[in-house]
Amino acid sequence: MTAERLSEHVEVLRGSDDGTFPRGNPLLVRGGDTVVRIDASLDHPATPNADLIVLSHYHEDHVVGLGETSAPVMVHERDLACVQSWEEFARVTGLESAPMGEELRQRFRWSERPDAVGFSDVAVIDVGGGVRIRVVPLPGHTAGHCGFLIEPDGVLYIADVDLMAFGPFYADIGSELSDVRGSLARCAEIDAGVYTTFHHKGPYDDRPEYLSVLGTHAAALDARDERILALVAGGAESARDMVGRGVIYRLEGRRPWYADAVEEIMIGQHMVELGVGSAATTRRPH
Ligand SMILES: [Zn+2]
Ligand SMILES: [Zn+2]
Repeated sequence: MTAERLSEHVEVLRGSDDGTFPRGNPLLVRGGDTVVRIDASLDHPATPNADLIVLSHYHEDHVVGLGETSAPVMVHERDLACVQSWEEFARVTGLESAPMGEELRQRFRWSERPDAVGFSDVAVIDVGGGVRIRVVPLPGHTAGHCGFLIEPDGVLYIADVDLMAFGPFYADIGSELSDVRGSLARCAEIDAGVYTTFHHKGPYDDRPEYLSVLGTHAAALDARDERILALVAGGAESARDMVGRGVIYRLEGRRPWYADAVEEIMIGQHMVELGVGSAATTRRPH
């Protein structure tokens, strides 16, 4: 739970357990007299000493304690409603039909910020002292999921493009597999000095190493396609038929409580892309 300097103006606030979900590693950006916090975590909740809080997306592990500070909050306009309202958060995550809404709300100290402000795909936040936070839209994980390029330092924060070998997550109502593919391509394009994520992996200051880890992360999509095609060849007709059969979660691995819903939504997206089965009718269980 220590601060670690990434560049002249950027520090990472390391979480326990290396920032593995539900923990995480937010950033602090300083320019002139201004301190900007990028995301808030269980170990480093939003605190009164930031002048501005910028969010990569609305998920609960990134917004801890947001209601306990009066610092202004910014998030991409496509994720804005989920920061402003619990009803919208619950609807988009599918939580409204799950029994643990209140438990999750307390655990992540979730509170509404109706005053939060949206930014666009091309926004640049001037921190002061010549430091800028350039929005890098990386939709797919959520509709408004963003990374940020901190200039002039050349630090690229890619948030929940988490680089895990498990592969990307795209189970929100606003998630699109085609957006995920585009965002992975964008992450590979940007030539930065330091690459950092919110959870666990990185930071990387070696571009070939970063590209290799990103390639492994992205290759999970092809592996999912292959497993789906094999199951279809074996007679599976719908996304639901393929839940619990090793497409997303390994057969021998731990299955979180939301695994069935996540698998059905994500498999459905692959089926639409592949043009197989009756995925279109099973895509959104909410
Ligand atoms: Zn997330
Ligand atoms: Zn996260």
